Amino acid sequence: MGLVVQKYGGSSVADAEGIKRVAKRIVEAKKNGHQVVVVVSAMGDTTDELIDLAEQVSPMPAGREFDMLLTAGERISMALLAMAIKNLGHEAQSFTGSQAGVITDSVHNKARIIDVTPGRIRDSVDAGNIAIVAGFQGVSADKKDITTLGRGGSDTTAVALAAALDAEVCEIYTDVDGVFTADPRVVKKAKKIDWISFEDMLELAASGSKVLLHRCVEYARRYNIPIHVRSSFSGLQGTWVSSEPIEQGDKPVEQAIISGVAHDTSEAKITVVGVPDKPGEAAAIFRTISDAEINIDMIVQNVSAASTGLTDISFTLPKAEGRKAIDALEKNKHGIGFDSLRYDDQIGKISLVGAGMKTNPGVTADFFTALSDAGVNIELISTSEIRISVVTRADDVNEAVRAVHTAFGLDSDSDEAVVYGGTGR
Ligand code: ASP
Ligand code: MG
Repeated sequence: MGLVVQKYGGSSVADAEGIKRVAKRIVEAKKNGHQVVVVVSAMGDTTDELIDLAEQVSPMPAGREFDMLLTAGERISMALLAMAIKNLGHEAQSFTGSQAGVITDSVHNKARIIDVTPGRIRDSVDAGNIAIVAGFQGVSADKKDITTLGRGGSDTTAVALAAALDAEVCEIYTDVDGVFTADPRVVKKAKKIDWISFEDMLELAASGSKVLLHRCVEYARRYNIPIHVRSSFSGLQGTWVSSEPIEQGDKPVEQAIISGVAHDTSEAKITVVGVPDKPGEAAAIFRTISDAEINIDMIVQNVSAASTGLTDISFTLPKAEGRKAIDALEKNKHGIGFDSLRYDDQIGKISLVGAGMKTNPGVTADFFTALSDAGVNIELISTSEIRISVVTRADDVNEAVRAVHTAFGLDSDSDEAVVYGGTGR
């Protein structure tokens, strides 16, 4: 039997009881003959609490110190987990990200992994230990400073270690039974997906599904590491995310036409009003935004009124970047040339994802019909080959997700989805 990497999120190790429960699961995997490497997140809301604390001391904490502080959360959980495992009579050793060989660039608070050199982890498991690694952190290649990978980054640590250690599978343990056809917190009749392709999972993650982070799925696809998302609270099979369907018993798993409905209320919309309708205007606006290092999502440009030759351009971006974007645009107002800016953070996005829509005509029509039957007004639309997204009023989002889920026959007729804890992260 090979090596498995298991990742446990904050809600799975929220307290001492949780840590002991997780320790038992880890020991089971070891007893089944696997070499086991565990990646662990900070306990419960520890990371949020550390952020609050930092903000009380300084409104703009220095990136290097902020990362040093946040990585303390995972140090606590990794050491406690190793103790709990030893208490069950098995050998375990904990390692920081730096000790585990997680090498990153030097962008504090959202560093990218550039290499993984897990020599110490390999030695530890070869010597019979269970290795516990602190998630979400690494060390920068050039300055040797401690870095963090951005919120939710432990998933990425797990996949990166799985790739570097040539693991059989990367198991992501969370507080739901797997990836669902919609957020089970919103759609009670959401169904667990048995298997989903990397491509569909990437689109769901990009569209607001919180169960796996986009960067983690991207990494898994690049190195072709199968991910098994499952609950640490139940013994059930979860969702396999991989390039090819995984056989489960004698039940062949097929590519669904529609994988699921994702939603996102973390974005805002900026409308640039009164932009001259001439070449170079959109370039000037989006150069300003990209110079401020802001990623945008959807864009629409309205037809210009013939009488004025002016048009409006709207785009969406993370709410957290709203202030920065407005400031940057205001500063360049004369260079760009527009009348005014409108900011709206009461929007939500609903996305339908599935590779089957490439070959099944009518998906778009059915999507819009479901929204109109639910009385939901659409403000922006964008599509990819395997996704349709719309922006609506934030208040309409939950209703819209449920309507679309039902219209595409995704509702389960039996068990309601179980949410064991946490907040979806
Ligand atoms: N503890 C970090 C966070 O809450 C990393 C993680 O949970 O993956 O974002
Ligand atoms: Mg967390």
